Amino acid sequence: MDVQSRVVERTCPACNSPANQGKVLPYGSAEWPMRECNSCGFVYLERAPIYERLSEEFAWEKTSQAEKTQREEREPVKQGLSRAFKTFRQKVIKRNKLPELIEKYVPAGKVLDIGCAAGGILGSLPAQYTPFGIEVSRQLAHEAGTLVRPRGGDIVHDNALNGCTQLPSQMFTGVLMSAFLEHEVDPKNLLKQVARVLKPEGVVIIKVPNYGSWNRSIRKERWCGFRLPDHVNYFTPQSLLNMVIEQGLTPVQFGLADRQPTSDNMWLVAKPAL
Ligand SMILES: [Zn+2]
Repeated sequence: MDVQSRVVERTCPACNSPANQGKVLPYGSAEWPMRECNSCGFVYLERAPIYERLSEEFAWEKTSQAEKTQREEREPVKQGLSRAFKTFRQKVIKRNKLPELIEKYVPAGKVLDIGCAAGGILGSLPAQYTPFGIEVSRQLAHEAGTLVRPRGGDIVHDNALNGCTQLPSQMFTGVLMSAFLEHEVDPKNLLKQVARVLKPEGVVIIKVPNYGSWNRSIRKERWCGFRLPDHVNYFTPQSLLNMVIEQGLTPVQFGLADRQPTSDNMWLVAKPAL
């Protein structure tokens, strides 16, 4: 297959406006143009790799390593420093909010991790949760499966939308999308499915890069949130909030501390709307 037949041509994933009416941003490339929608301002890749291609060629375990190496070659000192700083931050300021948000909001029961990779998060869930996952990479789905099945859970090997669509309504007390929604070609339909599979008392926890962060303005195309072509959506706090609400979810936590412009990422917790 040539490249053209292995990509999806997209309209604006937020409002469906045609891509060619949007402004081309300097953060994309000739092969992977990035657009800012002229109707709603949403930022996205006009073209996205098809799921099957993602499953093998752009599997996370490969691209993340390739990207890391590329960045290190480009700016060895900056990367060295930022990695040390990141470790420091994680230890001292506890930047990873996932464990505390799970503990605070997710009732005991079945928890679904969308894009669960090898099951790192699922494997660390406390005993009151039964771990389930969806993973598009065959190898990672296999590894995650061996981890969660002894605890009564399971892994669906499929893309997120197909995987989620197969699951029964109101099955989960928690859905985790940590660094996932920026990869999803059809984020609106995925969020709609998430609202469907959650129990009324359940919550979804979303972590995505914050396109509105100061670091993005300063670092420009070198911002860590840009990853071509596997990050296909670039959310601001407002565009994330709009899409979540539009798809039948009500935010329960999305305060200033969860969407600081000084952080590269933002966190949102939402429950199904009544
Ligand atoms: Zn739009």
